[in-house]
Amino acid sequence: MNFICAANWKMNLSFKEAQSFLKEFLEKTQNKDFLKNANSESNMNSNLKPGLGLKSDFCIFPQALHASLFSEIKNLNWGAQDFYFESSGAFTGQNSPDLFKELGANIMLIGHSERRTLFHETELQISKKIKKCLDLNLIPMLCVGETLDQRKSNQTLDVIKTQLKSAFVPNSKMIIAYEPVWAIGTGLTAQPNDVKLVHDFIKTIVGEATPVLYGGSVKPENAKELSMIPSVNGFLIGGASLKVDSFLSIYNNSVK
Ligand code: 13P
Repeated sequence: MNFICAANWKMNLSFKEAQSFLKEFLEKTQNKDFLKNANSESNMNSNLKPGLGLKSDFCIFPQALHASLFSEIKNLNWGAQDFYFESSGAFTGQNSPDLFKELGANIMLIGHSERRTLFHETELQISKKIKKCLDLNLIPMLCVGETLDQRKSNQTLDVIKTQLKSAFVPNSKMIIAYEPVWAIGTGLTAQPNDVKLVHDFIKTIVGEATPVLYGGSVKPENAKELSMIPSVNGFLIGGASLKVDSFLSIYNNSVK
């Protein structure tokens, strides 16, 4: 069964550090079952969408300037943490999704809460980025999640519903990542019951076949418990993805 472990490196790791990470990661995963092609039907969790086209259970979202390091690597899903929704043109400072694709990317992160809050990304921009990805045959990984204030005022499910309604494209190859904003980088993890409730709710909107990942202070110590929730199909990991050993421990500790 597939259990996706996705690393969001955010604005971390120098070029050399990224190079060493990949060298160590490939050494430690060589000849391991989980790097075999996950695209084959026999290796797919029957509940999840066959033909999502993932190359393995692992995915990395590096900084854009790391992209050239990834272009030759087989069996690893990777892509941008953000990009513009046009292919080319007079858009100073933006990164073209077509260029990521040309370099071998197959999956793109969209609507991370840091993009929404720090960079004022709107639902309209998010939805344009998703459409662009689908046009280019890149898998969009859409992030959704509530803030602490929204949780405290019982708005969690409404917020998630609004974010999904404006961006999710039914019957498309998409992945959802549920990341409660208050659990990101804080060491606070959502309680398994809360995670289950939200993931089950997301599945009622996006369907059983769409993978839903959990993100927010995932680490080797809590991976097992969270991965046992049936509607958790993987993790989106920030801080604990920056070291090969903790990234791999999370995967190894997860119940698949
Ligand atoms: P942390 O794992 O550092 O909490 O970050 C989660 C995240 O934002 C991944 O996208």
